[in-house]
Amino acid sequence: MMTSKNRDHLNLLCDIGELANLIIGSTDIQGFLQQTVEMVARHLNAYVGSIYLYDDTTRDLVLKATVGLNPSAVGRIRMKSGEGLVGKTFESRQPICEARASGHPDFKYFKEAGEDPFESFLAVPIQRGKEKIGVLVVQHEHAGYFDEIDVMAMRAIASQLTGAIENARLMIDQNRQTVPARGDDLLERLRFIKGKTASGGFAHAPVTVLKADGESLLSDRPDSEFVSAPQDFLKAVEATKQQLTDLQDRLAQRLPESASLIFEAHFMILKDARFVDAMLTKIEQGVSVSKAVRDVAGHYMALFSSAPSAYLKEKAQDIEDLARRLLNNLCKEASEDTDHAEGRIVIARQLLPSDLLKLASEDVKGIVLVSGGVTSHVAIIARSLKLPMVIAERIDLLELPDGTPMLLDADMGSIHTRPSETIIQRFEIRNQTQKAEKKATRPIFAQTRTRDGESVKLLANINLLSEIKLAKDLNVEGIGLYRTEFPFLVRSNLPSEEEQYLVYKRLCDEMGDREVTIRTLDIGGEKLLPYLEGTKEANPELGLRSIRFSLHHRKVFLQQLRAILRAGAGAENLKIVFPMISALDEFRQARHAVEEAMVDLARQNLPFHPAPALGAMIELPAVLDIIHELAKEAAFFSIGTNDLIQYMLAVDRTNERVAAYYQPYHPSILRSLHRIILAAVKAEIEVTVCGEMGHEPEFIPFFIGAGLRTFSVDPHFLRSVQETIVDLSVSDASAYARALLAEPTLAGIQALLRSPKKVA
Ligand code: PEP
Ligand code: MG
Repeated sequence: MMTSKNRDHLNLLCDIGELANLIIGSTDIQGFLQQTVEMVARHLNAYVGSIYLYDDTTRDLVLKATVGLNPSAVGRIRMKSGEGLVGKTFESRQPICEARASGHPDFKYFKEAGEDPFESFLAVPIQRGKEKIGVLVVQHEHAGYFDEIDVMAMRAIASQLTGAIENARLMIDQNRQTVPARGDDLLERLRFIKGKTASGGFAHAPVTVLKADGESLLSDRPDSEFVSAPQDFLKAVEATKQQLTDLQDRLAQRLPESASLIFEAHFMILKDARFVDAMLTKIEQGVSVSKAVRDVAGHYMALFSSAPSAYLKEKAQDIEDLARRLLNNLCKEASEDTDHAEGRIVIARQLLPSDLLKLASEDVKGIVLVSGGVTSHVAIIARSLKLPMVIAERIDLLELPDGTPMLLDADMGSIHTRPSETIIQRFEIRNQTQKAEKKATRPIFAQTRTRDGESVKLLANINLLSEIKLAKDLNVEGIGLYRTEFPFLVRSNLPSEEEQYLVYKRLCDEMGDREVTIRTLDIGGEKLLPYLEGTKEANPELGLRSIRFSLHHRKVFLQQLRAILRAGAGAENLKIVFPMISALDEFRQARHAVEEAMVDLARQNLPFHPAPALGAMIELPAVLDIIHELAKEAAFFSIGTNDLIQYMLAVDRTNERVAAYYQPYHPSILRSLHRIILAAVKAEIEVTVCGEMGHEPEFIPFFIGAGLRTFSVDPHFLRSVQETIVDLSVSDASAYARALLAEPTLAGIQALLRSPKKVA
């Protein structure tokens, strides 16, 4: 450690690599805490670095790791909240910086610490939201050593480390509570896993692992547990049909755009004489009922799994699901898992949007995926469905025995397998508090203004019709993005013009005179339509997707445009946006298609909206150099940051392995966003951000400072976005944006993002 203050402000913060080393590199919790204090002391050029964590059971703050103090004091120094300078920091949630700590009236002397020589004292609270976690302390021999900059740096470091420290604290509790059973290596390994938040929330439930390999066909149950008479088999077939119909009804109420389709494959298989008859024949030949079901289902699963088409391959999963339901109904004693996913946390390798729907209809509590990225569309749909979802690249999660208790803290991306009582209680308390806070603080959403009176428009991104209610309850100003893919993705065939019309009409009717922006089909990439054969591509993200697909399949495009225009007849403010526009020519072709659809509709004497505003999604780097010309032709821009980042930085947004390269704060991204906004402002057209970046508190001041005045975000982010905006002033935000735009390095930008007040 050094004695002199030889520092540059940015070096006071930790960089991402350092944080990652700390979290991934440490082998155990104590090691992590120890490395943390060493790193903090190093950054602050301090002699002493210590961390105190709050122990819920004893209600003490306990010294958990230190460098510089006597190591034997770890675990022994304890104090109450409010006691001594550390306790005061914890209680007040405020940093305490003392030039001469020993002279302070609150100073408490701990003989065992060996802290006599250290005069300068700086402590900051570690907290997550309203939850107090502990205190981070640095000390130095020289009086008056720490200053304002150190306080800011310590705060920034504490906030960077909060998530990891909170998890470390939970793990410590977990260790105290659970004595692992012998040979429980897997459970031990999976006791705590840090993944990524795909959709926030909290769930505590037993797990069910989706494997689609036939293993889950109740193969562990002996024949004697199943009925044996053919008539009982036929009764079970009927009961299965009834259960599927009930599930379907539940789904239809919750998700009207998918009604009557999601279990279509199940019904068709049940109707297929070869399936049920083959089972019956075997039963009549003396094969046991359960074996007959497993054999026939297994035969078809193998057949479908080896089919060349992705669509047919998927059917293997449907057959497995169906056979499992059937077997459950064949059990003599009511089986526990009639709806095997109901009330469970589901672990799967991969899920399709339609799988998510099925799971939602069964009221699953949460989802853990062992592959995928957090901006992928299943993640977006999970958020729409309010299903907590975590993505963790841990294939061994698939080996967890069915029914293992799990606690999913999807807000933090944490997975606790077989959680201890303490952990469960803590989460339940937090969950209740959050619910109560949400109710108590729900503001009436009317207009949004910055602190200095600038008006900002807030719109909602909608994927499902069921989300309109929340958006309307929040009194949102309109829909800034309706993704039309959903009805296409959950069907087994292209939805007809009429089906689409009904969905869009409901959207327009519900929103009344508020604006509605409907995006034309953004299919392709990871959102493949399995029923369109020949769409398999080596590089689907760079393939015939989005507007290219629409222009290529002109009939499909015209059908959709007709449905949109008809649904918008009489609507006040209808907007249509074309996704992934890469050239002026493409935008013009799309506009021509709208004109053609209008001519058609007029000829047929059908009512339609005669003049919707036509806009372009700005999400490909290719349009940056024609942005001014495009701004002259488009009625508005919608910035799709999810794809803009993916394509500018060549990082697959769904690939967890390159997630660290998905950097919204990259200088080229920020500068491009600025160019786009400036071009729109110059051409006097509206510009909205509708990608995930738009709801992130660290980027909202940047957008405002860069001149953006319209945000479209998932409905459940509306309130937090509003809260961030009303706290901002345009002049501060502009200075902040200027500073960010002037910074050419990733590290420099990250440092500024962490401490915006430094600039403003
Ligand atoms: C985007 O790319 O930012 C966007 C809003 O569209 P999607 O997430 O549907 O691709
Ligand atoms: Mg996009």
